[in-house]
Amino acid sequence: MLRAITKGLIASPISGGRMMSNTSLSGKVAIVTASTDGIGLAAAQALGKRGAHVVVSSRRQANVDKAVSLLRNENIEVIGTTCNVGNREDRERLVNMAVEQCGGIDILVSNAAVNPFFGNILESTDEVWSKILDVNVKAAFLLTKQVFPHMVKRGGGSVVFVSSVAGYQPIFIMPELRTFVKTALLGLTQALAPELAQSNIRVNCVAPGIIKTRFSAALWQSEEVANEFLKLLSIKRLGMPEDIGGVITFLCSEDASYITGETITVTGGMNCRL
Ligand code: NAP
Repeated sequence: MLRAITKGLIASPISGGRMMSNTSLSGKVAIVTASTDGIGLAAAQALGKRGAHVVVSSRRQANVDKAVSLLRNENIEVIGTTCNVGNREDRERLVNMAVEQCGGIDILVSNAAVNPFFGNILESTDEVWSKILDVNVKAAFLLTKQVFPHMVKRGGGSVVFVSSVAGYQPIFIMPELRTFVKTALLGLTQALAPELAQSNIRVNCVAPGIIKTRFSAALWQSEEVANEFLKLLSIKRLGMPEDIGGVITFLCSEDASYITGETITVTGGMNCRL
């Protein structure tokens, strides 16, 4: 009886039963969106260094070419294509390319976000709301839906959404509108996890704090503003893209095989709550 139970545990990756850490991603194929710079590029790099075949993408071909060549120089197995995640044809091309050229899909890191509006929320328009919802939330779900059958064919997979600490609590200096879509990703993670667990697919989320990238330049380029942020942190430095890439890779690895529906905040100790 005990042997049968143990056998059952080992047979199902979601139920665990492993005795050893297994962080290699060799043989896995990972799609990372918005991965030609910042956090997405660091995630692609970290996944690739663990042995995954990575598929990088963003809107501009020149950025894709640069990222592919950078990762190849680090001996990472990588291909790339343009993909504006808000565009259905682009998403389809990305998924098809991964399947045709890499043989399947095991990992999706949905990282893209846009911020088309600065100012008082009441002044935002219908068009702004459509764009922000399309790119930051709907595309994350629609891509998950598109990769789902391919992950099922592989016997399982892992999805990671990139949210933000601002999804827990708007940050005082930032425009507040886009923070609600980051909160939506926390909910999407929890909503999808039980359904996808039936297919041995885990769904998790990371919520970065202030990470030094182009996207967040307004928050750290001025020493005065950066110092205000540092007061909120336990670890007295701003985050680097690699700080997030490592956590994403952990969530995609077998080390996290019993974690789903979870959001990990990676903030240097910033207090956050919903
Ligand atoms: P980043 O360094 O500015 O990089 C942005 C990347 O996204 C670029 O590769 C850009 O390339 C691509 N991109 C932009 N719009 C896209 C679209 N519609 N479709 C596909 N790719 C697109 O930004 P980041 O700071 O790493 O931000 C990445 C994610 O982390 C975002 O979801 C952001 O909200 C989140 N985040 C960042 C921070 C932070 O402090 N940096 C904090 C919390 C959360 P192209 O221009 O070629 O498209």
